[in-house]
Amino acid sequence: MSTSNIAAETQQSTIDPALLKKSVIGDYRRIDLWKDVSELDWEDWHWQVKNRICKKEELSHLIKITPEEEEGINKSHGRLAMAITPYWANLMDPDDSNCPIRKQAVPVKSELKISQHEMTDPCAEDRDSPVPGLVHRYPDRVLLLVTEMCFSYCRHCTRRRMVGEGRNILDRNNLDKAIDYIRSDRKIRDVLISGGDPFMLEDNVLEEIIKKLRSVSQIEFLRIGTRAPVTLPQRITIGLVNMLKKYSPIWISIHFNHPREITKRCKFACDILADNGFPLGSQTVLLKGVNDRPYVMRKLMHELLEIRVRPYYIYQCDPAKGTSHFRTPISVGINIMEKLRGHTSGYAVPTYVVDAPGGGGKIPVGPNYLISEAKDRYTFRNYKKKIYTYIE
Ligand SMILES: *Cc1c(COP(=O)(O)O)cnc(C)c1O
Ligand code: SF4
Repeated sequence: MSTSNIAAETQQSTIDPALLKKSVIGDYRRIDLWKDVSELDWEDWHWQVKNRICKKEELSHLIKITPEEEEGINKSHGRLAMAITPYWANLMDPDDSNCPIRKQAVPVKSELKISQHEMTDPCAEDRDSPVPGLVHRYPDRVLLLVTEMCFSYCRHCTRRRMVGEGRNILDRNNLDKAIDYIRSDRKIRDVLISGGDPFMLEDNVLEEIIKKLRSVSQIEFLRIGTRAPVTLPQRITIGLVNMLKKYSPIWISIHFNHPREITKRCKFACDILADNGFPLGSQTVLLKGVNDRPYVMRKLMHELLEIRVRPYYIYQCDPAKGTSHFRTPISVGINIMEKLRGHTSGYAVPTYVVDAPGGGGKIPVGPNYLISEAKDRYTFRNYKKKIYTYIE
């Protein structure tokens, strides 16, 4: 990334007047650390990335750090480091260590505990990787990991073995190898661009990747997995959207975990994407103490529909090393699904999946509605647990 690129991008990103009119920027100046920061800087994604909260001293301006958090931060070096965008950090509750944003962003002592069944690479992605940066598990689709960097690092990250700063798996050489691999397998029709967060790349770098993928004739379906609208909505610039539009259709999957993440600023970013024709889906990780209550999950799903994001998956929290404090029993997820299906709009009901440890792929789990299956007679129960028979 050259400095001239940054300069050019920064000049383009003058504040959209609609932002000011809708007053969606937020009251960040109440925080001492940012009291002199201009709205122009606050709205500049490069400024946000450069000014991420990575040190305990910076964080102490924002929250009352608990002893559990302090120990987690002190020992997070050499593991998934702490990095929180000012935008995301501004959403944390200073006094409540159970704040859902704080739990996702600030390391805690519990991460140091490695439970018996936890793994470095729980979904065996490295094993199914024919080329660095490419995961090929299902016959017709691949996962392309284009960067290890993210705007903010999530403490529950399943790819915590690889995310973080300063490495780059997908250099030009590996990108070309990945494209050659995809081109050589005619069965591959779907590429999921993920990482890290693909939007951490500069527009021109991301464009080069997308352009190469679009040059592969059998690719029908392109999608991008990102957390930008949640952790740094400022990243969804008109420049980015105009670039992506050239390669439409592109579906965008956004990682949302709690209703508190759906701010006016986040909605503004999702509106830009939806208005420009990008279908939006959500991916949610079931996290203890964050979204493991049915009413929280239902509220999240409802609010997602209101910002035109279609709930896609709820993931059981993968057994990645140091994440046991986030993991719920699978019955908690099944109960959440029970409380959604039938009780609310079908569009608000995602699929709950367990990504099978060892690389079996995503397996849907949910309440059992089929009670018995005889020769030509199926017996079901509905969402109210009433019994019905269907005769063939
Ligand atoms: C999740 C995933 C995909 C995409 O799966 P969908 O169910 O189509 O969203 C593809 N490859 C790998 C390795 C995955 O983990
Ligand atoms: S945004 Fe995704 S890849 Fe990045 S740290 Fe969070 S969960 Fe991991």
